[in-house]
Amino acid sequence: MFDCNEAEKLKRDLPLLDYLKRFHWTSRRVGSGQEYVGLCLLHSETHPSFYVNVAKDLFFCHGCGCGGDLIRFVQIYFKLSFRDSVAHLRKESAQVADDRDLLGDTVAFYQYQLPRHEEALDYLRKRGLRDPGLIRHLGLGYAPGGSLRDHLLSVCGHRFDRLVSLGLTNRHGRDCLFRRIIFPCLNQDRIVNLYGRSIGPPPPHRFLPRAKGGLVAWETLRNAPTVILVEGLFDLAALWQTGFCNTTSALGCHLTAEQFSQLCDDPKRTIFIAFDSDANAAGLHAASKLALELEKAGLQSRIVRLPDGHDPNSFFISGATADDFRRCLERAGGL
Ligand SMILES: [Zn+2]
Repeated sequence: MFDCNEAEKLKRDLPLLDYLKRFHWTSRRVGSGQEYVGLCLLHSETHPSFYVNVAKDLFFCHGCGCGGDLIRFVQIYFKLSFRDSVAHLRKESAQVADDRDLLGDTVAFYQYQLPRHEEALDYLRKRGLRDPGLIRHLGLGYAPGGSLRDHLLSVCGHRFDRLVSLGLTNRHGRDCLFRRIIFPCLNQDRIVNLYGRSIGPPPPHRFLPRAKGGLVAWETLRNAPTVILVEGLFDLAALWQTGFCNTTSALGCHLTAEQFSQLCDDPKRTIFIAFDSDANAAGLHAASKLALELEKAGLQSRIVRLPDGHDPNSFFISGATADDFRRCLERAGGL
């Protein structure tokens, strides 16, 4: 049976842009930042004319004239009736829900482990993160390695093939985020990915092989007239601890379509980009590129320059105060 609310629920669970990635659809951002264009998946073409509006969650192709929502796309792509398209998406959505439960149980397991492992607490202290309330608020956990698989299979009843498929463990059951501080990446309060910061061997940053989610804590600060955007989780923690609670992070200096769309959802917002001032100027380069894209989308932005070699986290660890950072914000320039 099809009920009228089900279509809306399916579309919430499976945003169109994410869904199209399953078909390896590649796109570039256009206009106000809410629209993406790429080659049409519904007819053959060499010049991109297939547009997706992220805010409206709709597509339209100027080549073949097809347009609509997720269900309409499935109808045309798979040549299914409306009813069969909903049934098809229902199965996919059930998988998404199972995976969400699995991620939730994984995060709870890691959170339980964090206070029990001195090496993890020691790492947090070294990064200047001492406030237990903030650690809880961020939902941080720790992956000690060794026991995740058994917990998820025997206590929570998950299937081993899903653990492997999500990238939580490898085929031998070894925890892929082993010896990492774990941060749950959310999208509208739902866990969509895990970010693991290594406390030991490289690579320092690791995500599960899926979309990394929206901007950190976006729902709590989206109404602020100015927003500070930083690269890393520890930059964000350092600024929150110092009172700059309008700070968010993209967990990296390259924003996903969704994160960019979030920044652009209020044209009156001013964004202070406080990326790493590293020796190879990668952070500054990424900040300039982002500022240009924000300007094209009609938003004001300022690039915050920290002393050479510093990111916001290391700036505070080196003894800087809230006033020092405030002065950096006041000095921040446009493009
Ligand atoms: Zn088309």
